[in-house]
Amino acid sequence: MIYIDMLKIHPIPAFTDNYIWAIFNETECVVVDPGDANEVLAFLNTHQLTLTSILITHHHHDHTGGIAKLVSTFPALQIFGPNNKKIKGINIYIGEGDNISLFDGKLTLDIIEVPGHTLDHIAYFNDRWVFCGDTLFSAGCGRMFEGTPTMFWHSLSKLKQLHDDTKVFCTHEYTLANLAFALHIDNDNEALCNYKEWAVDMREKKLPTLPTDIRTQKEINPFLRCDDKTFVATLARKMELTGNTAEEVFAACRLAKDQY
Ligand SMILES: [Zn+2]
Repeated sequence: MIYIDMLKIHPIPAFTDNYIWAIFNETECVVVDPGDANEVLAFLNTHQLTLTSILITHHHHDHTGGIAKLVSTFPALQIFGPNNKKIKGINIYIGEGDNISLFDGKLTLDIIEVPGHTLDHIAYFNDRWVFCGDTLFSAGCGRMFEGTPTMFWHSLSKLKQLHDDTKVFCTHEYTLANLAFALHIDNDNEALCNYKEWAVDMREKKLPTLPTDIRTQKEINPFLRCDDKTFVATLARKMELTGNTAEEVFAACRLAKDQY
């Protein structure tokens, strides 16, 4: 449990490896990407909380599948999300440069558009937190289902520019699988080796490896290091690169991960 300004954040596990992040105070709760309503309802019941808002990052069903059932339980819900009419239930569409106010103004989050995993993907952030859905994972990034390498790299660059201490709330526990690939291509990276030891220990204790933070990801995440000359030189010894711009390196890295 993380406590910030009287707000707590807790990951509600769902499906095999999703986390539905719950932000709450003594009485109210906001959830991010509720793919499974039952897990959210159980959490609200245990903590005696009323759900007031839902934040959606993108259209995939494991992030949106719980919306309808939660609305039937809490009809006054504010549901924020990207302007994609395919997502049923969103009643406040938001995009780049917008901000939203939660918990009677005690929490404000800004919106950035981060296409790549999907075209509609957005992230919610302030100076301490970012809820980035399936765009950035610890030691990895989302699969490129709809975007292009240039688009995805640009989105990751936006996240990289957030303050180093920003806590990164991703929606999947993919860390160990991502680390296997990251170490495969960047095994001389001492920070990466140390992080893996920590992550293995956390998972052995059945604890989440998330949130992570931007500082750590800048050191260990290959997908954030495609503009780092040392990393690119290491990568060029492992695989054939068609070019050395960040976009080209990202494209090669993403493809190699897909085939790993
Ligand atoms: Zn997704």
